[in-house]
Order: sequence, then structure tokens, then C-alpha cells
Amino acid sequence: VKLTDLNPKFFTLGHWASPHIFAIGLTFDCPCCRDRRLAVFFDTPIDPDNVAKTFMEPWTPTLLNHNLWKRSGDTFDTLTLTPSIDASAHGHWHGFIQNGEIR
Ligand SMILES: [Zn+2]
Repeated sequence: VKLTDLNPKFFTLGHWASPHIFAIGLTFDCPCCRDRRLAVFFDTPIDPDNVAKTFMEPWTPTLLNHNLWKRSGDTFDTLTLTPSIDASAHGHWHGFIQNGEIR
């Protein structure tokens, strides 16, 4: 299964109103049931225009006080996240997103 089959969406800061892309995390349909949305926060935002540097004080997602996933790739087709995403405590999927593939 590809990530793109699971209605992926990037999300941004709650009050982000700029046209610049600034994605701090990803939501997607749970691969096991496609009935729940799973969400992960990135350790490094997707920030092609470098707005974090331009408009904000040095900003780090750790301020959000969430678990963070190490991200590489900045599109749904190339995204890799580590470590695994584990929703098994809630009876849902546990696996990896690697190069846009659900594993
Ligand atoms: Zn599920």
C-alpha cells in the first residue's frame, strides 16, 4: 500500500495563515482499518521557503511536547519516517512509512 492511498494530509501550526508551506506533521487513514486517522509530528518541518528562519524565532517542534518522527522526503511519494508508527496499544496499525510505502 502506498501512503497516497490513505488520504494523507500534511498539517501545520494552528494559526498558520501564510501561503508558504510549513508542515509540521502528517495525518493518514490507519492502514489496518482505514477507519481512524493516525497523526505523527516531524522532527524537522517541511519548510521549502525557510519561513521558520525568516518569520519566527528559532522554532523547534519539541516545543509542542509531542513524540517526534525523524523525517526525510518532503512529498507523500518520498516520505520516510523513523522510528515505526505504533498504534497497537489502541488496537491499530504498527509499521513503517518508507519512501512513501506503508510497510
Ligand atoms: Zn486501524
